[in-house]
Amino acid sequence: MPLPADLSAILAAKHRPVDLPLITKAWEFASLAHSDQLRLSGKPYITHPLAVAKTLAAWDLDTTTIIAGLLHDTIEDGGATRTDLVTEFGEDIARVVDGVTKITNIHLTGSVESQFVENLRKMLLVMAHDLRVILVKLADRLHNMQTLQYLSPTKQMENARETLEIYAPLAERLGIGEIKGQLEDLAFPYIYPVQAADLQSRTKKLYAQSHVYIAKFRRQLLTLLSPQIPDVVVNIRQKHLYSLFKKLQRPDIDNDLSRVHDLTAARVIVNTPEQCYLALGAIHSKFHPVPSLGISDFIANPKPNGYQSIHTKVFGPEGQIVEIQIRTHAMHEQAEMGIAAHWQYSEAKSHGVRDKILQSGLIAAPADKLAWVRQLVSWQNEFTDSREYLRALKFDALQHRILVFSPIGDVYDLPSGATPVDYAYAVHTDLGHQTVGAKINGRLVGLDAKLQNGDVVEILIDRKRTLPNPDWLHFVVTTSARQEISKSVKT
Ligand code: MN
Repeated sequence: MPLPADLSAILAAKHRPVDLPLITKAWEFASLAHSDQLRLSGKPYITHPLAVAKTLAAWDLDTTTIIAGLLHDTIEDGGATRTDLVTEFGEDIARVVDGVTKITNIHLTGSVESQFVENLRKMLLVMAHDLRVILVKLADRLHNMQTLQYLSPTKQMENARETLEIYAPLAERLGIGEIKGQLEDLAFPYIYPVQAADLQSRTKKLYAQSHVYIAKFRRQLLTLLSPQIPDVVVNIRQKHLYSLFKKLQRPDIDNDLSRVHDLTAARVIVNTPEQCYLALGAIHSKFHPVPSLGISDFIANPKPNGYQSIHTKVFGPEGQIVEIQIRTHAMHEQAEMGIAAHWQYSEAKSHGVRDKILQSGLIAAPADKLAWVRQLVSWQNEFTDSREYLRALKFDALQHRILVFSPIGDVYDLPSGATPVDYAYAVHTDLGHQTVGAKINGRLVGLDAKLQNGDVVEILIDRKRTLPNPDWLHFVVTTSARQEISKSVKT
């Protein structure tokens, strides 16, 4: 069974080399697993995994991720087992599919608050093991939201709410701005039907007018910038509807559309950061910046999720206020694809090294691999803070647990106050017994140091040691460490 032409075309247009025979094999496997199954739309079920795989291919992700997209529902709905997937496609692909299946079964809406927190924590743990699980899940959610009209009203509400409360913020925290915007706009009409319809009718004309205006302005910008910056690209960016909806609720905007100046913006893309400032200078010398609204330099001061760009508001032709965003191609890639863009790069760079390290069992890691994991942890913290109703919880499971990482990126979930010794016993009893020292984030620390969320913990061992130090009982906090130490001390 040949690969569908639309998927082949996307793969052929990408730079990343992919394993076409293996992707074709996965396509055949999925087609067989889902044969005779239909989506609620009445279309063959296989159209769904195919759509997911196409999205992942368009994001320029690797063979494993694209295949996981094709196979992501074969365990849940296609009657395949994890063992089948390991046999046919190897451990790596099976693990990603398994992770997606696990997340799919964790439902976040409709549950009571304490369960919600617990489920969210489980979900983050599954995702933290492999970023590709999140990317497949986001592509899956995107297609499910695009075909939401075929579900029952109750299911529509549930999925739309989950998308708005969990998946869109997740995409935002991971810096995948484009997907965040798409997910929000797809959920918006289901959650706020009246407001969405009203805003749509109020803005339809405005969007069309501002698009025409920016298209004209774009040509002027190109004429202005091209002589100084030969490869300059100018795009037109339209604000997502849900993002506009939220902006209109700000006190300084007060539901007044005439105060929104970035309905449509011009986006100037250049090769180097220096050229960004060159472009800014050229633009300001021709179009005056609006004094009260000013410029934001997110290149010098990036946003917490890594977003970089210069935003300036100027008086454009006919005195209209217009927003211009200036960035490099690399910043643009980062803004649209965030962590996924970073991962593509770091994965390609460190792949061989990481495999060798894992095989040799040496404790060392490419720092790149952990960067997104740390971001996930900081997202987890922010997320808890930003939820009004979670703030009200007296006992907050997220706050009282920490996630720490082994030097190769494995995740361990420990109670707050845990020490390197607790960590060592959580990994393995023998590691606990042989502990003689510890490093946190590469720095030597005492064995009673308190671990923090996101720490990378490395245990120094003496292989000749077989018994723990009874003094450790004074500071360990986990039951498992306490039990193992007491047991060994008594004998
Ligand atoms: Mn699915």
